[in-house]
Amino acid sequence: MTGAEVSTRRDVPSLSRGTSWVVLGLGAIALVVLAWLLIPWHPFPGGALDLPDEREVFAPRELERMLAYSGAARWISRAALLVSLVVACLLGFTSLGRRLVARLRGPWLLRVVLAVAAVTLIGWLATLPFSVAAHHLRMRYGLSRQAWMPWLGDSLLNQAVGIVITSLALLALFGCIRLSRRWWPAVAGGLVAALVVLGSFVYPVLVEPVFNDFEPLPRGQFRTEVMAIAEREGVALDDVLVIDASRRTTSLNAYVTGFGSTRRVVLYDNLVDAQRGAGAHGAVLSVVAHELAHAKHDDVLVGTLIGASGAVAAIGALGLLLSYRRQDQYATPEGIPMLLAVFALASLLAMPVENGLSRQVETRADVDALHATGDLKAFIRLQHDLGVRSLSDPSPQTWSQWWFGSHPTTLQRIAVANRILD
Ligand SMILES: [Zn+2]
Repeated sequence: MTGAEVSTRRDVPSLSRGTSWVVLGLGAIALVVLAWLLIPWHPFPGGALDLPDEREVFAPRELERMLAYSGAARWISRAALLVSLVVACLLGFTSLGRRLVARLRGPWLLRVVLAVAAVTLIGWLATLPFSVAAHHLRMRYGLSRQAWMPWLGDSLLNQAVGIVITSLALLALFGCIRLSRRWWPAVAGGLVAALVVLGSFVYPVLVEPVFNDFEPLPRGQFRTEVMAIAEREGVALDDVLVIDASRRTTSLNAYVTGFGSTRRVVLYDNLVDAQRGAGAHGAVLSVVAHELAHAKHDDVLVGTLIGASGAVAAIGALGLLLSYRRQDQYATPEGIPMLLAVFALASLLAMPVENGLSRQVETRADVDALHATGDLKAFIRLQHDLGVRSLSDPSPQTWSQWWFGSHPTTLQRIAVANRILD
């Protein structure tokens, strides 16, 4: 090997190092500025919360069931996470993944898709025992009513959607790298930001209908009440949709997706049925008021913009990481296991930030809902019912809530309600 060859191999990838620093810096600055401006850092007045005792909120039998289920579910999900990371790292950071992909035959483009499919399906198989255990547990506790075959169908469909999206993303990344070895992090950063925004925009109309059916909420007293809350919260709303979630789950929920012309407020059919039940009506309206608060503040758009900035920063970080490797080692199907392992680790590390921001936004939605309904009793009943129905851990460990909790805990939400309306 001549000296010139050695220096080319070292210098070609490091061409992108300067660009990577700039992309990482811009993404990080955008993330911090957007979070600073758009996230409600003090959603309720006053200082630290006085949490109620869990035994004041839940009956002993309820608590027993919640702790039994959430304890078991937590172990299963932690084990699944650990196994999936170990598998991803084994494939990505040893020669295993590279050797596996080297065996895949076909045109380059097909090999990219096959490599993604292979890594995805190995991860899926490795965690399948945990997924089965988790579904079994959910059925045993009456949280899921989905039979095994439809469950398996959904799980495979999810993998297929994931394989398509990941393959497209990697093809785009490789395209950028081949386009310009110096500027690819900038091109890829711009592209990923555009795709996150576009993806979040079209998700409600392109992806969600693959998994569920949606119908407009029928006219009647309930719809009139929903519209009245929307007006009180200052949300322009043409329609509310009902999703056939009862095919899969028994939980009561609602959500907002999309933004602009694809923004949809969606209620679980379970929730619409529940409001006919004695005493549950006010609690259901509390759920609706919470979702309408998300719609009012365009929280999906906020999350999307912050997510896009994070993705740009991540591309910059990836560029830096790759600039220390030989270019021909990663912009190829053989590099895919390594890229997916990096992605898995990065997603885990991003969780505390993502969930920390989410908890602030969720707390504001609770505060707005309380102001809109003025119904403290119904809100507390709702938190109680949500906790009991989803069998959540009423007092998760602080670090676990900090890392994995997308919402404040039941006890925190009740404490906020007491602060707002007492
Ligand atoms: Zn929410």
